[in-house]
Amino acid sequence: MATKTTKSAEKAATTKKSAATKKVASATDKKTVATTKAAPTKKVAAATTEKVAAAAKAAPAKKTDEAAVAAATAPVKKATSTTAKKATSTAKAEEKTDITTRMKALYALQVADSQIDEVRTLRGELPLEVTDLENDIARLENRLQRAKKDVKDVKEDVANRKEEIVMKTAQIAKYKKHLDSVKNNREYEALNKEIEFLGLEIQLHEKHIRAAGFTIEKKQNAVDEISEMYNERKKDLDAKKSELSTIINETETEERSLLTKSEKLRKNIDEKWLFTYDRIRKNARNGIAVARIERGACGGCFAIIAPQRQIEIRMHKKVNSCEYCGRFLVDDEIAGIAKPAPAPTPDTVEI
Ligand SMILES: [Zn+2]
Repeated sequence: MATKTTKSAEKAATTKKSAATKKVASATDKKTVATTKAAPTKKVAAATTEKVAAAAKAAPAKKTDEAAVAAATAPVKKATSTTAKKATSTAKAEEKTDITTRMKALYALQVADSQIDEVRTLRGELPLEVTDLENDIARLENRLQRAKKDVKDVKEDVANRKEEIVMKTAQIAKYKKHLDSVKNNREYEALNKEIEFLGLEIQLHEKHIRAAGFTIEKKQNAVDEISEMYNERKKDLDAKKSELSTIINETETEERSLLTKSEKLRKNIDEKWLFTYDRIRKNARNGIAVARIERGACGGCFAIIAPQRQIEIRMHKKVNSCEYCGRFLVDDEIAGIAKPAPAPTPDTVEI
């Protein structure tokens, strides 16, 4: 019996202690709760000081205490949990709307930036075509100059030979005149040899002049041909240049308005998202950082997306990205598209 009593006393003391601690704790918390708690605790304290036997009472007292505390706190707790639940669901709803809105904004940015890319590509290819034509024209001009010079050289050669023929003919006439006044056979033969030699030289020049006639005709044909090509290319170039300037004017206006749109859209997008978006776009050859699910695949890299993941993406609960290429993934609702559009060219990204 004695040990039992001691035990009971100890138990009571512990209860008292714990109740006191609870009291302090509650006091710091809420006054109403503290008061509810304090009353039964006092009861427990009285029970312990009055009689040891009363310790037995302490147990129910404690129970009462606990019950009272529970009763006092329960509505508060209940209220708190209801409010919390309400707040969580509101937050979740808000978050969902938020994700949907934010993803829509991000997708709109992607659309604007893709349009800028398109405009720049269009303008980027035309100058290349113009440069190619300019190079062609420069090459043709060189060929034309060379062909013209060839014709000129052959003509000059003919003129020189004709001059030579005139000179040599005059020389022959002079030697022939000399023949009348020669003093001996040796001189006579020497002069005759000279005349014969000059005659051969004249024949050789005449042969060259005849051949040059064909050469000039051939080279002149080349000159005409190259000139024709040159003129055609020049016409093409002029057309391309005017086309280019028109397109540049048109696309510059378009690009400016798209850039303004892009800048505006960026202001509504989270910095972290923008950072990722810019990084992916920089590395992707097709400039796609926000890809649509197209026929069950990532619209950026064409990796198949598991049906479960597709459902998750359609729920707009969180930001989704392709596990293969890292692109943001959106469904048609966010993209504002009812039917899937033709797929873009495949691309891989290194991130
Ligand atoms: Zn992908």
